[in-house]
Amino acid sequence: MISDNGKDQGREHEREGDQGLDQEHGRERVVIIGAGPCGLAAAIELTAAGVDPLLIERGAIAHSIFDYPTYMIFHSTPELLEIGGIPFTTPNEKPTRLEALNYYRLAAVRNRLRIRTYETVTKVVRREADGAFTVTTENRFGEPTQLTADCVVVATGYFDHPNKLGIPGEHLPKVFSYYKEAHPYADLQVAIAGGNNSAIDAALDLERSGALVTVVYRGAELSSKVKAWTRPMFLSKVDKGRIRMLYQSRIVEIMPHAIRVDTPAGYVELPNDFVFTLIGYQPDRTLLRELGVAFAGPNGAPHIDLATMETNVPGVYLAGVVSAGGNEANSIFIENGRFHGKLIAEHIAARFKHNPKH
Ligand SMILES: Cc1cc2nc3c(=O)[nH]c(=O)nc-3n(C[C@H](O)[C@H](O)[C@H](O)COP(=O)(O)OP(=O)(O)OC[C@H]3O[C@@H](n4cnc5c(N)ncnc54)[C@H](O)[C@@H]3O)c2cc1C
Repeated sequence: MISDNGKDQGREHEREGDQGLDQEHGRERVVIIGAGPCGLAAAIELTAAGVDPLLIERGAIAHSIFDYPTYMIFHSTPELLEIGGIPFTTPNEKPTRLEALNYYRLAAVRNRLRIRTYETVTKVVRREADGAFTVTTENRFGEPTQLTADCVVVATGYFDHPNKLGIPGEHLPKVFSYYKEAHPYADLQVAIAGGNNSAIDAALDLERSGALVTVVYRGAELSSKVKAWTRPMFLSKVDKGRIRMLYQSRIVEIMPHAIRVDTPAGYVELPNDFVFTLIGYQPDRTLLRELGVAFAGPNGAPHIDLATMETNVPGVYLAGVVSAGGNEANSIFIENGRFHGKLIAEHIAARFKHNPKH
């Protein structure tokens, strides 16, 4: 359980009118799955509404952000990343990954959120008898646990599930779906599949450290989503021949020493040491499907009431990027996903008020 240097130990017994754990039945009112920015925002709103939720997080707090490139700078200004009305200040125009990690960790501690980290929710089942949920988890020691919850908020994000090229050789150990930093790749031939912010940021970083970078992108020109301040820098490096940019092209095979690329001029084979496939992410919907959440088609958006973020399964709510359609994962981000929590909290608090023994 996360605490502020141990000061919060046993605090669930301290609060007056606490609507979190029903001591009599050992049952949680609300379990939030995932302690990313949107899960944390939901937890803070629920706490403010008098419902003390339990967060279960498979990694650390804000684990996706922890896994972002080490020196990444957000494209949002800090106030657009704020949760729970806590000011996010930075001397820079845009916050760094490290500042965001500090901010979200502090937001959790200051709000005295109950978080079980390094514990993965493996299954959630709705009980026919009373409409409550049996939540099964596995902690970092591989030990299973079970608990009961009246409501479940799924805030599992998308970052754990990168899109794949689906080509021969993608399984080779030199191929990565995540980029951290440039140092290991100096003077080596590095190919990047993709043409959005993650790909362009990685290309610039790698080039600065002396890697020989080729970006392979299926679009005819740079994506309009590329950040305004990186676009001219990237295009200038391409013009000067310091980064090779292959538009309207696809990597079709990855071999130990080379890649095969389909270009407008025909197939070419390029020498290659490492490949980064930075082509986006898709929410994992396994838990939701098992729970009976409906989707608009095989990769469509989940069925949600946008006024409350409740799904077609009563008591199951979605917060953050997991609420987006599979093809539209980028339509929800921290800037807008952080507001889901307030809608959820209002609905859940009203539910408990009308039915305190729910
Ligand atoms: C490189 C990069 C830069 C970005 N920059 C910006 C930006 O500038 N501004 C912006 O608004 N957005 C930005 N985004 C998007 C933004 O970071 C995501 O949309 C955001 O993280 C979504 O928050 P979330 O809480 O929904 O999901 P996440 O932050 O992904 O959190 C989900 C959490 O759930 C946990 N989890 C998953 N499954 C389980 C399970 N079964 N059991 C327990 N825990 C589980 C994960 O470990 C994770 O901690 C960026 C994204 C990337 C990749």
